Amino acid sequence: MTGAPEGESVSLDLLKKKMIEFAKERDWEQFHSPRNLLLALVGEVGELSEIFQWKGEVPKGLPDWKEEEKVHLGEELSDVLLYLVQLSDICGIDLGKAALRKVELNAAKYPVSKKKSQTDNNVTGSC
Ligand SMILES: [Mg+2]
Repeated sequence: MTGAPEGESVSLDLLKKKMIEFAKERDWEQFHSPRNLLLALVGEVGELSEIFQWKGEVPKGLPDWKEEEKVHLGEELSDVLLYLVQLSDICGIDLGKAALRKVELNAAKYPVSKKKSQTDNNVTGSC
């Protein structure tokens, strides 16, 4: 079950609605405070980190990984995304709009003209 027709992208709004429905059906909304969701998110980031722990650098596309490792990676990435979507929603933040605004802020902070002259500095580090 993917929840989306083949070839169609999945929106943040769809994920938000699915998570609201999921929590409501289980009466879990009572546990979904901003703090609890943040801590759950951090826990999932830890689970995601475990996948890469001790592997050293891995090439883009993960060509040497087994299929089940990639499936597991997708699951943990999803856990992080879903808690992030829930946290944003419960805090009243439109995550899509906030992310687009942040991209614009980053573009202004790191103009293309400076790209080549700052390769030794922290150009891609802290946004
Ligand atoms: Mg997980």
